[in-house]
Amino acid sequence: MSVADNTTDRANEAGFGEVTHDLPPLGQDPTRAYRLGIMGGTFDPIHHGHLVAAEQAFGDLGLDLVVFMPAGRPAFKQDRKVSTGEDRYAMTLLATSDNPHFVASRFEVDREGVTYTADTLELMRGIYPENVTLYFITGADAIADIVRWRDAHRIAACAKLVGATRPGYDLESARRTIAASPYPFDVTYLEVPALAISSSYLRERVSAGQSLRYLTPDPVTGYIHKHGLYGLQGPSFGQRGEA
Ligand code: ATP
Ligand code: MG
Repeated sequence: MSVADNTTDRANEAGFGEVTHDLPPLGQDPTRAYRLGIMGGTFDPIHHGHLVAAEQAFGDLGLDLVVFMPAGRPAFKQDRKVSTGEDRYAMTLLATSDNPHFVASRFEVDREGVTYTADTLELMRGIYPENVTLYFITGADAIADIVRWRDAHRIAACAKLVGATRPGYDLESARRTIAASPYPFDVTYLEVPALAISSSYLRERVSAGQSLRYLTPDPVTGYIHKHGLYGLQGPSFGQRGEA
């Protein structure tokens, strides 16, 4: 049975109804084990901090692929205006397009309503066969949050976690939070080349008219300019000047 044939049945068993998706096939050879990395985030916009963390996880953990998955409507970012899923997916696609082992997925942006990581990982667990292990990659700030979530036990049941160092956040305190959790989290800690950058910082720079060069891939900067994101005045294609 192919991975595609498997998709609907197993997702139905998990109680999620029919699931169509753009996730890459993996697990085809039943005699070998596969490792799939999942880099989740709001990616508003994606930047080199995300890309470096995912690349480090790919190398250190011997992953087969890393799927970059922009969050649909993140449960925890309802307080600020987040760019559309379409824009965040497009920027993620642009940023990952030159790396053969990075894939961008619409899996979350195409889901209705607020998207929870536990649901996403449970759906993915149902989609991939047992010989594919899921590794959910997060920075030091996010990993401490995740284990405190209401659905933490569901996450622990579906995926291993990868906790990447991030400047300004204490991975040690994240370790203590995880150790104190009643759930059996399997976490690999990862030393990532320090990039003290965040999407918030990039958004501030754009609205102040400052350069994003070396903070995110140039095609992402181009997209932000072309579409007038983050308070930037977009170019006026096709507009005639005053006569
Ligand atoms: P924002 O400032 O809007 O919160 P962000 O830069 O934190 O944006 P997110 O989309 O929130 O980006 O983060 C997605 C994931 O990437 C999280 O797990 C986060 O910890 C991790 N991450 C973000 N920036 C870095 C970085 N510079 N180094 C390592 N990990 C990072
Ligand atoms: Mg963040």
